[in-house]
Order: sequence, then C-alpha cells, then structure tokens
Amino acid sequence: MTVTVRFAPSPTGYLHIGNARPALMNWLFALREGGRFILRYDDTDLERSREAYAQAIGEDLEWLGIVPHEVFRQSDRLAHYDAAVERLKAAGLLYPCYETADELERRRARARALGRPPVYDRAALRLSAEDRERLEAEGRTPHWRFLLPDHEGDPFSTRRTDVTWDDLCRGSQSVDLASLSDPVLIRADGSYLYTLPSIVDDIESGVTHVIRGEDHVANTAVQIAIFRALGATPPVFAHHNLLTTASGEGLSKRKGDLSLRSLREQGLEPMSVASLAVLTGTSHAVEPAESLGVLSAMVTLDDVSRSSAKFDPDDLLPLNARLVHSLPPEAVDMRLKGMGIGDGETFRAAFWLAVRENCQKVADASAWWRAIAAPGRVAPADDDAAYLELAARLLPDEPFDEGSWSDWTGRLKAETGRKGRALFLPLRRALTGLDHGPDMKALLPLIGRRSSVARLS
Ligand code: GLU
Repeated sequence: MTVTVRFAPSPTGYLHIGNARPALMNWLFALREGGRFILRYDDTDLERSREAYAQAIGEDLEWLGIVPHEVFRQSDRLAHYDAAVERLKAAGLLYPCYETADELERRRARARALGRPPVYDRAALRLSAEDRERLEAEGRTPHWRFLLPDHEGDPFSTRRTDVTWDDLCRGSQSVDLASLSDPVLIRADGSYLYTLPSIVDDIESGVTHVIRGEDHVANTAVQIAIFRALGATPPVFAHHNLLTTASGEGLSKRKGDLSLRSLREQGLEPMSVASLAVLTGTSHAVEPAESLGVLSAMVTLDDVSRSSAKFDPDDLLPLNARLVHSLPPEAVDMRLKGMGIGDGETFRAAFWLAVRENCQKVADASAWWRAIAAPGRVAPADDDAAYLELAARLLPDEPFDEGSWSDWTGRLKAETGRKGRALFLPLRRALTGLDHGPDMKALLPLIGRRSSVARLS
C-alpha cells in the first residue's frame, strides 16, 4: 500500500510557524517513504472557514516547498459523512441525546463532587421513542454520540477496554475506553464535529499514517474505535510535540508576526523557517538545512523528543543568516536580478560571493549593491585628500583580481608609511561610502578601475 499522509488545516486563519511543523513532518515522511501527501481543508465549520485562508494556506505551503499530490475540501464531501452516519445508526452505534450544555455541565459538576470521573452516563440511551418525541416537540434537536465499545452488550455495564497503538513518536500508548465519554459526532444544529469527517476521509483517501500534534493524542483511542466500527483498519499514528515559544507561550497569541506570510514578508528563507520548525524539539541541533530533501534524510519521527519543542523567535534571524552565508549564487540569482543588481550572471555570482557573509537576509544584498554601484559620497578628512590622490595614481591596471587590493595597498603603504585604519579606511570610504562592509579585495574588482578613480578624486 502506498504510504499516504495528510495535512488537514482548518482554513480559519493563516498558517503560523507552529502549523508548519505538522505540515513538514508529514511532507518529510512522504519524501522519505516515496509516499503521497494530501492537503485536506477541514472546513466543515462554515461560519469560520474562508476561501481566502484556504488559498493562503496553499501558497504558504508552496513557499515552504510542499507540493501536495492531492487537495480536497471537506465541505465538498458531506454526502460521504452522511453515508457513514447512516451506517453507524444502522449498527446502533450512534444515538441521539437531548441534554443542553448547561445540563451536561451540571452533571459533570455533580460527578466531580461525588469523586467520580465526569464521564457521560449514557442517560439518553434510556429514552423511549415517546420520550424523544416529547423532547423534540419541546423544540429540542438532538446531538449524536458514538457508543464506545467498552461493554459486552449492555452499555450500562462497562468494562475496562484498552485501546493500544504504537505511536511513531511516543511509543506504545494505551487508553481505557471506559474512562471516556461517548464522543459527540454531530452537533444539535446538524453540523459535524471534526472527528467523523476526518475518519471517513482518512479511510476513503487511503491514509496510512496520521502525523499530527500531540494536542490530538487524547482523541486517538476514540478515533481508532470509530475506524473499526466503520470496518476499517486504523492508520498508524504519530503525535509530535508542539512548537511553543521559549516562554511556553502558545503560538496562537503570536500568530501575527509568526505567520508564514509575515515571516516570508520579513525576508526569511523558507529553509530557515522549515529547519527551525522541524528540528526544534528533536534529538538534532537546530541548524539550517539546505533543502527539504536533506531534512527528510536527517530526521525521523523517532527523533522527536518527549518534552516540548520550545524555540525563541529571536533565533530565526541568526539561523537565516547562517543559511544565507552559504547560499550558492545560483540559488539567489533571480532574486538579485529582480533587485536590479549587476549585469549578467557571472558578475552577480561574484557579487554574491563577495557580500553574502555580510547579509542576514538575501534582501540585504541591495544595500551592498548600492555601495558598489552608487555609493554616497563622503568628503575625505583634510589629511586624506592628498592620500586619495596618490591612491588614484597608484591603482593597478585592470584586469583586477583578488590580489589587486593587496598590491595596491602594499604600494600605498610603502609610499606613505600608513598602516591599519589610516591605510584602509579612507579607501573604503571613498570607494563604498561606508566604514565597514564586505572584504575590499572582493569589492574592488566589482567596482572596477574607472569608478574607483572617479570616487578617489
Ligand atoms: N483539522 C484538524 C486540526 O487542524 C486536523 C487534525 C488531524 O490531523 O487529525 O487540528
């Protein structure tokens, strides 16, 4: 069976870096296994779902380098969920309940006061057809619960029923169904909660592995029971730790500045975002990986640690800088061209190799380009004017190469006795308009003889 995974966001907002983690864990797993990746929009909550968010999610995944093999929306598949409901009802596994939220809360409070677990007591199963008619005549509409298989025929006499699964991140897991309430699958307004549609889709799209955040681990035993009730073999599950900021703050509060959109707009590289989103909270150091292929060969679900995955948003920029320092010219050529940099690919390659160590983001290259192509003019200090005149005369002939700068400054040193800052800084200022920047031996050939002479005089 082809390995098939899915990433199933609700299109109710933009993806943030915390959502990138499950998306990438699934994608990397599919890459490693030669499998398929499905993007499924969990949009049964029609009030909160927006088409614009669905589109944005697709774009943000593409920016990360994720190209789904298949995309679909749950709102297009309601008939499939309705069919599953009919099957569960026919099997006597889905029953109508009429309690209001207040009534349920009062019952839970009572159970807690008596020291009992606040598990739903299946009271609705005792209702007769007349009771139900009366309640519906009062204007109540039912919500529907799935009858958990924690009994041997008599649902009021439950027994310990362990559901176990071998979680690819957390190891062997076991949950006693008798300790859980029968889950509500359909709300009183007829809308679906996420549980049943997700299972129906996982079955019908042949999902073999469900990889998701550990906030879903509590639902898994119930979901396994429903998979079985629908006659399906449950997929393999993996629940990874959730990304949180160093202060333990959930990412939802920081969605704005940590949304993938805003990270992209801030000029961060997708691979630095992906490296941080995946490697944090694993047995690997958080290093910039050069491609998703490299990440997928490196990280397995087994490497995910049991503790939380805390990161400091301030680490993103230094991580990005490290990635940028090693980006080869061909990886940035189009972008440099877009910034109006240089004439021709060979020139841009030399330019990039000269400036990349001085860039935290690729966009920083444009400031260095200004320094090379059209620097601000800095009036030389009085005692430097003659020095610059001499420098113009001693400038070697072209072609310039990496040795030209040291030939030139060597001659100037011999002629003037200057050294250190006094030797170099007036030249850097005159040629680039700046006091600091990339190595002058790489910049001089890019500036060229004619411009250099003009800037020295
Ligand atoms: N729509 C669910 C969520 O965003 C999907 C959970 C799952 O992967 O099963 O949390």
